[in-house]
Amino acid sequence: MSRPKIVILGAGYGGIMTATRLTKELGMNEAEITLVNKHNYHYQTTWLHEPAAGTLHHDRTRMPIKDVIDTNRINFVQDTVVSIDDNTKTVKLENGELAYDYLVIGLGFESETFGIPGVKDYAFNIRSVNTVRKIREHIEYLFASYNNEPNPSDSMLTIVVAGAGFTGIEFIGEMADRIPELCAEFDVPRERVRLICAEAAPTVLPGFDEELVEYAVNLLESKGVEFMLGTPIKEVTADGVVLEEEEIKADTIVWTTGIRGNSIVENSGFETMRGRIKVEGDLRAPGKDHVFIVGDCALIINEEINRPYPPTAQIAIQQAFTVARNLKALINGTKTETFVPEIKGTVASLGKGEAIGKVGNKKLYGATAAAMKKIIDNRYLFLLGGIPLVVKKGKLKLF
Ligand SMILES: Cc1cc2nc3c(=O)[nH]c(=O)nc-3n(C[C@H](O)[C@H](O)[C@H](O)COP(=O)(O)OP(=O)(O)OC[C@H]3O[C@@H](n4cnc5c(N)ncnc54)[C@H](O)[C@@H]3O)c2cc1C
Repeated sequence: MSRPKIVILGAGYGGIMTATRLTKELGMNEAEITLVNKHNYHYQTTWLHEPAAGTLHHDRTRMPIKDVIDTNRINFVQDTVVSIDDNTKTVKLENGELAYDYLVIGLGFESETFGIPGVKDYAFNIRSVNTVRKIREHIEYLFASYNNEPNPSDSMLTIVVAGAGFTGIEFIGEMADRIPELCAEFDVPRERVRLICAEAAPTVLPGFDEELVEYAVNLLESKGVEFMLGTPIKEVTADGVVLEEEEIKADTIVWTTGIRGNSIVENSGFETMRGRIKVEGDLRAPGKDHVFIVGDCALIINEEINRPYPPTAQIAIQQAFTVARNLKALINGTKTETFVPEIKGTVASLGKGEAIGKVGNKKLYGATAAAMKKIIDNRYLFLLGGIPLVVKKGKLKLF
């Protein structure tokens, strides 16, 4: 009998960890495992705010997929997924087609624009190695150009970050550290530079502990960040952002107001909410007994507050363990298990050596929180590739 074909789409946290765990759960001849990804590398999405600001080289965030997976067990296909046809159980790729018996969708997220005009045309987003390289180079180019213009405009040195959620605040923290370096490098007076965070909600980091939020705001303001809270952006234009009562001229707008699931899922006919599939308890798509969803493409509800869990790497990694065990259960004809997220804590970085977080009931600030963030990052690398990967790609200096 031929081995069942398991196809995993996307080698982000959810996808690559599912593939790795499957090699532990299944014997050599139990299934044929194929992992598909657009690039030949896996990147740590949770670090992307750093290369976006230019405080870390983007190569530190990525690693060749073939160095991480067991290529004797997993067939890696570098290609771009175009669509999924679950009626014929095939995935259309840019350069071919793949048939599956079981499918795991881990294609990650897209930036949520809420239909605001101009966002797609004029704003940058923090989504991949390629999108963040563009942000860093764009900002450096503007700083380098400033003293070459006969009449340089203030907008060249004005950066607007839309959204004060996790990604926005982490990027602002890095940018606040990077600006003095850029000013020194390109002979630009610091007082000419503006770093503005415009947020529609009345607070930054909604849902975070108030004391920790206050610490973050005070710290970032002390580094020159301007917060405009309760300030929805109505439109993004080639010149900047349009607010309710004013317009801010800015040559750099970074959009971080939230995410939706990869549009391929919705466009392939799956029922979604903001592009994400509301999965069954065992992480299968409703009505599809052979399709699992991991990571940001999956929507799971926190019953205690009747709201979706925020999309995080923490949950994507945990889901991967469950999906691997559930695929084994299906192949062996046994019962699948229900996924129960175990939220160990949340830590948001605020630039070099600074962070805030909550682990269990304990609040963490400053250097301790920053060290905890690095421990979390290193733990993921350990789960993926053991100590060698931690040594190669980890953040080893905790303080
Ligand atoms: C700046 C930032 C900081 C964050 N910090 C944290 C944090 O501290 N803690 C936390 O838990 N979470 C954090 N998150 C959220 C976390 O990164 C995401 O929840 C997580 O990446 C989701 O994992 P995933 O596997 O669903 O998708 P991803 O990790 O985004 O991976 C998706 C993969 O699919 C591939 N892909 C996409 N489209 C295609 C296609 N058409 N064909 C082939 N391949 C494709 C991509 O190249 C990528 O490899 C952060 C996010 C950002 C942006």
